Amino acid sequence: MKIAQILNNLRESIILCNRCRCGFCRSRCPTYIASHIESLGARGRNLLAQALLEEYVPLSKTLADRFFTCTMCGYCREVCPLQVDTVKIVQKIRTYLVVEGFYNSNIRELRENIMNYSNPYGKPIKSKTTWTENIQFYKRGKTLLFGGCVYSLQDPEVLRITAQLLLRAGVKLNYLPNEPCCGYPLLCLGFQKEFEDIAKKNTELLLEANVEEVVTSCPACAETLKQYSEYIGKAYFKVLHITEYLKELIERGEIQLSHAIPLEVTYHDPCHLTRYLKKYEEPRKIIRSIPGVVLKEKPHNKLESICCGGGGGILITNPKMALQISDILLQDLLETGVTTVITSCPTCKRNIETIIKLRKAKMTCMDIVELVEKAVKI
Ligand code: SF4
Ligand code: SF4
Repeated sequence: MKIAQILNNLRESIILCNRCRCGFCRSRCPTYIASHIESLGARGRNLLAQALLEEYVPLSKTLADRFFTCTMCGYCREVCPLQVDTVKIVQKIRTYLVVEGFYNSNIRELRENIMNYSNPYGKPIKSKTTWTENIQFYKRGKTLLFGGCVYSLQDPEVLRITAQLLLRAGVKLNYLPNEPCCGYPLLCLGFQKEFEDIAKKNTELLLEANVEEVVTSCPACAETLKQYSEYIGKAYFKVLHITEYLKELIERGEIQLSHAIPLEVTYHDPCHLTRYLKKYEEPRKIIRSIPGVVLKEKPHNKLESICCGGGGGILITNPKMALQISDILLQDLLETGVTTVITSCPTCKRNIETIIKLRKAKMTCMDIVELVEKAVKI
């Protein structure tokens, strides 16, 4: 497939960006801040996009690297005065690079793992369910808890707490014991065809399971599941992030936060939750409704939140730069002077914990669900 076809709808905005070249996006593009290399920023990527479109730059490993290191944080899109969708442009160019075979062995392995094992780590699908022991789900329940690969395999305790909170609040919670990957890593890394197949299969699976709404703690899963309708042509189910769902349950009194926790915390907004889904008030409302908890905002919060260094596949395409980005976030967190950071994404939590440990910072990171559990005391 020709690059002109792939970038068809985005051609105008690429040209517009290259006429304007305002560079507003550079102020917070994490890969530019970490590298100070123009082609590793949003503006530089759009310049390369035009060069590709006009066919005066050949495909190369270095060129592919410029697009595969984008964290898909969405900051550039947020600040662009011309609403240039650099995230979409990067994603489409990745599709082209994949078709042309310009991607590395780590990306290839991740694709194989998802296609063969339904998770990016290549673990047996059964190992995604370790946390479900002794939990009674409703087989035909209309509300489905979608665990997601990262929580299921790297932080399963959060899922156990989430399920218990919802079941105790009276939610007839369904769960798929053979839960598939939502397909986000495939979509963001350019495997468009594979993603479309997964979106169709997963939609059928959810419909067979009688599901009307999906609740997930993973912001990337939430955003991806919401996107299925674009590929299927119709939205068959509602998708909610756990912070939206918990906020409602708390406001209706179905979850009561009765135990005071005397604690100063800061909150880290995950890119997918804040800039993609615009859900930054919900977690704050939850945190503020816990007696004793004081929320101290970090300098860059809500739509200006700094990427944790784990988005867009950068952990496998450029782990060194991922760490540099985590360092930038850590400085922002440390400026608050508090020692507890709350977040609501498994990848953010993992990256924050890694950088805290590496820099021996006096700070701990907690998922918002873990904080709620302390206030409810299951
Ligand atoms: S999505 Fe983030 S990392 Fe990628 S170009 Fe935009 S600001 Fe930079
Ligand atoms: S802010 Fe928008 S128009 Fe300006 S350089 Fe960045 S992407 Fe281009």
